[in-house]
Amino acid sequence: MIERKKILIVIILILLLALSLAVYFHTATSDSTPPISDKIGVVVTVGPQEEFVKRVGGDRVNVTVMVPPGSDPHTYEPLAEQMKQVQNAQIYFQVGSGVEFELTWLDKLRSMNQQMRVVNSSKGIQLIPNTAESEEGSDPHVWVSPKNAKIMVENIYQALVETDPANRDYYTKNKDEYLSELEELDKNITKTMADKNSTTIMVYHPSWAYFCKDYNLHQLAIEKEGKEPTSQDIIQIVDTARKKGIKVIFTSPEFSAANAETIAREIGAQVVPADPLSPNYLENMRKVAEAFANS
Ligand SMILES: [Zn+2]
Repeated sequence: MIERKKILIVIILILLLALSLAVYFHTATSDSTPPISDKIGVVVTVGPQEEFVKRVGGDRVNVTVMVPPGSDPHTYEPLAEQMKQVQNAQIYFQVGSGVEFELTWLDKLRSMNQQMRVVNSSKGIQLIPNTAESEEGSDPHVWVSPKNAKIMVENIYQALVETDPANRDYYTKNKDEYLSELEELDKNITKTMADKNSTTIMVYHPSWAYFCKDYNLHQLAIEKEGKEPTSQDIIQIVDTARKKGIKVIFTSPEFSAANAETIAREIGAQVVPADPLSPNYLENMRKVAEAFANS
């Protein structure tokens, strides 16, 4: 009986040793996904940039968006919670084209975290001057053209490689994959718009100038950047819309659609949403392009 007990104890000890070795080697060799603390803390201003950074950075990045979907980047103020994310971030990818949020807040955010690297993701994009007579500077909505998105993705890729050179191959593979999807989107939109040359699309807020420029459309806006139209403006807009045969007015979720609806009733047009800030960039741009083409 005692012999048997001894043998049983030895067998159990051997099994325990084997198990602990297995666990040890498993954790030592299969550590392909880094723990959360190991990720690069990244902050971006608008939703579309979130997809750009996530697609290139994959599981190596932790992304915080400052202006959440449905909020207006011309007027948004950050929450205490978002400030905390900024304090722990390594990179801030600014849009860099004169978005009001960045003009108002970026210096403040930078002073809260002086180690944080600020990268201009629009570097190399040709900016369109602001059309409103009273305003200086450029149209900030660069990301709405997939051609510009490709440039932004390259800039994001460069900065991630510089920050984390050990994972260059990983970022390169991700970037190439995403760029080919953007390329396909760009080609499809070009094809869709080929017989729509110089069509005028009517929008509430003038977010789409870069898209219109790259695919030969004209943008007619109800609102002048940041300002609601006066009743005099509305009379003029209704007149122009009738002349151009406008059948659709595009609105975006961060603005009230009341003025758009008034004008739509006046000219017998439909009100259709087109979101310039969706974090699902590829999917959203496909939808928007289709809606523009059918307007
Ligand atoms: Zn805007």
